[in-house]
Amino acid sequence: MSNTPVSVRYLTLAGRALADARSTVDVTGSGTSFTYRCRGCKATGRHSYEPNIHKDAQDYAAACRALPRPGKS
Ligand SMILES: [Zn+2]
Repeated sequence: MSNTPVSVRYLTLAGRALADARSTVDVTGSGTSFTYRCRGCKATGRHSYEPNIHKDAQDYAAACRALPRPGKS
């Protein structure tokens, strides 16, 4: 169970405003290594404790207004 990779996406502020489902902050990881990555501006964050990466990713997504460029992901 602990090795199951987390895969959660939080829609960014910009994504919500434009209803653009590509504008997300993606959380991945397992065990004690978790990462979030913003698809809009490529910002990343790390945490060793899963609840914290979700909080960070959620906070980040709520503030980020960057949009992915068309044709890139
Ligand atoms: Zn961002």
